[in-house]
Amino acid sequence: MILILGGTGEARELARRVVGSSVADGVAASRPQVVSSLAGRVSNPALPVGEVRIGGFGGVDGLAQWLRDNDVSAVVDATHPFARQITSNAFEACARVGVPFLILRRPGFAPGDGWHWVDSVADAARDLPGARVFLTTGRQDLAEFAACPQWFLARMVEPPEPPMPHRIEVLLSRGPFTVDGELELMRSREIDVLVTKDSGGEMTSAKLEAARQLGVPVVIVRRPPLPPAETVADVDAAVSWLGTVGA
Ligand code: NAP
Repeated sequence: MILILGGTGEARELARRVVGSSVADGVAASRPQVVSSLAGRVSNPALPVGEVRIGGFGGVDGLAQWLRDNDVSAVVDATHPFARQITSNAFEACARVGVPFLILRRPGFAPGDGWHWVDSVADAARDLPGARVFLTTGRQDLAEFAACPQWFLARMVEPPEPPMPHRIEVLLSRGPFTVDGELELMRSREIDVLVTKDSGGEMTSAKLEAARQLGVPVVIVRRPPLPPAETVADVDAAVSWLGTVGA
């Protein structure tokens, strides 16, 4: 069985491709099945096709046990570029159990002029070059801005919980977003700085083009480092890799 660690569009696309190829070959029953795993952070997640399991494994030990119990033949980590813990856990668990492991990570955003790169969300909060902030780093990082005096427009998928900035408008939305929509949003809120993560992908890149057109500075958080595992940038390459490891 192939385990896809998911929570991204790429993970759903990979599941669709792997499930689809098994069915097209007419050998679904004799092929390893695919199971997609989600953390369970959002209440109404976009679900991949095929089997899905939801919730943590219980660290490296729990994941290693799960790989053994389910006779997993390969693991593809297609989680979000900022989901650092699960990627590190999966790398260790696969090494321990001897299961082939691949990281599928979309490329980061094409860098723009005058972007302020920072190493962490906490660093972004320390020195904001503006008073009206468009914040798209996600619900889990909102606490880092709790002590900031600026006004925030914070966009996220699920409602946030305190601590959070005192002066805040929360916008619940999942994307994808358009440049026109982002221009309208940023103009209407008189945004003068955008804070985001280098997530990459086209679903959320429109805000960067809108910021460029409006001359709004961008504070962008660098991706965390990856473990030293084989890494590919797109679903096609992940499908090919599954073929090479015989999964
Ligand atoms: P994280 O900090 O790397 O993971 C924290 C813990 O959550 C892990 O140790 C694991 O618990 C569990 N977990 C995470 N991803 C899992 C998965 N796909 N299946 C099963 N358990 C998982 O992760 P995160 O940043 O909270 O992200 C959680 C999920 O949301 C990921 O699947 C990611 O793809 C998605 N996501 C994250 C972001 C982001 O900005 N971080 C954005 C969009 C989507 P155990 O140790 O108990 O196994």
